[in-house]
Amino acid sequence: MPAYHPTTIRLHSNNCPHAVELWKLNTPYDRSIFHTGVIAHAILEEIGKNPDKDARQVADKIVEKYCSEGRAYDSIPEPPAPLADALEGAKLALDWHRKFPVPFGDGITHEHPFAFTDQWASVDYNDKTAKFRTLLDVVEIHEEYNSDTGETHTRAIIRDYKTSWVATYDELDSFQRRCQAVVVWLFYRPDFITLEIANLRLRCNFFKEIDCHAQQNMLQEWQDNISTAIRTLDKQLNPNPGAGCVQCQYSPYCEYFDSMYKSDDVYRKYIAAKEIVAKLEPQIRKIHKAKPPKRIGLGLVGYAQKKRKKILPTAQQTILQKWTEQDGTLHELFASMDLSIRVVEKIARKITSSKKEREQLIQQITKEEPYSSFGIHKDK
Ligand code: SF4
Repeated sequence: MPAYHPTTIRLHSNNCPHAVELWKLNTPYDRSIFHTGVIAHAILEEIGKNPDKDARQVADKIVEKYCSEGRAYDSIPEPPAPLADALEGAKLALDWHRKFPVPFGDGITHEHPFAFTDQWASVDYNDKTAKFRTLLDVVEIHEEYNSDTGETHTRAIIRDYKTSWVATYDELDSFQRRCQAVVVWLFYRPDFITLEIANLRLRCNFFKEIDCHAQQNMLQEWQDNISTAIRTLDKQLNPNPGAGCVQCQYSPYCEYFDSMYKSDDVYRKYIAAKEIVAKLEPQIRKIHKAKPPKRIGLGLVGYAQKKRKKILPTAQQTILQKWTEQDGTLHELFASMDLSIRVVEKIARKITSSKKEREQLIQQITKEEPYSSFGIHKDK
């Protein structure tokens, strides 16, 4: 049986057990959606490992290599990346490095490999007895002196670079994050762990601290959960087609997905159709970015020119002028306006001086309420 990654275990819960079976069979899947993120990661790693080199030149070399030779992931070769995706990845990495220079030096490891046997003995990443493997973007180990207590403690910082807009606070409690905390806890036995999401698109960090002594039971429970997952994945796994097929990397290669699409069950057919559209639309969008739409039968597929109303930059001034001409006050004008969440957040950013203050204000002036949202809702 193979060594599992956190992402393999996630296939079981996010998609279905059969997705793990397809993974075990090395079923190929489309990795092109990962190009931008892969290149951004590779550039940040190289900058961290070569602090004396010019970051721009480091990025250019990675782009040239990944767009000509391609790369290998876990010894499986991948085709070259499209130049546009690579350049986007390079921009994300360089912009990040400009704002948060990539750290280097003693105790800092970029692309830190971890591997463990089924009894949680640490082994080399490619060791045949490994049962659980993971590569962490950055691990920093620091000794910190507490002048109040006179004690020194060890802090491990685990940094995960993310290129998705939606990777924020919630991501700090994901299964992947728990796996990262467990492997660093077992390997370094630190006193504290700081989990960090470095969101390259949002250009901001999200943190969570774990006190490894006070929260030892929690870490132990996370470790036990990984052991249970590994034992489960070693078994023959039956398929469970359904909502999990949405965003399943194996849907184009899965017989159970095909049966679902061909079934007479309107719900199953609907799920399959949504997944097919989700896979096809990005491809068609990409083709037609610089191409006219394609005629199919009585209509066109691609981008069509349409018109919509946009508010001019002078609109606020014009409205204010007309309002005051009719003796209206600013207070009355403000009271007559419908505020959207987006506008409230924008104003809050301008009138507060810290993130905490902003969040408190937004909490004070907004409320959550239930509403009915139609679609496919996956189990959490
Ligand atoms: S497509 Fe659906 S049935 Fe097939 S592996 Fe993915 S989740 Fe499972």
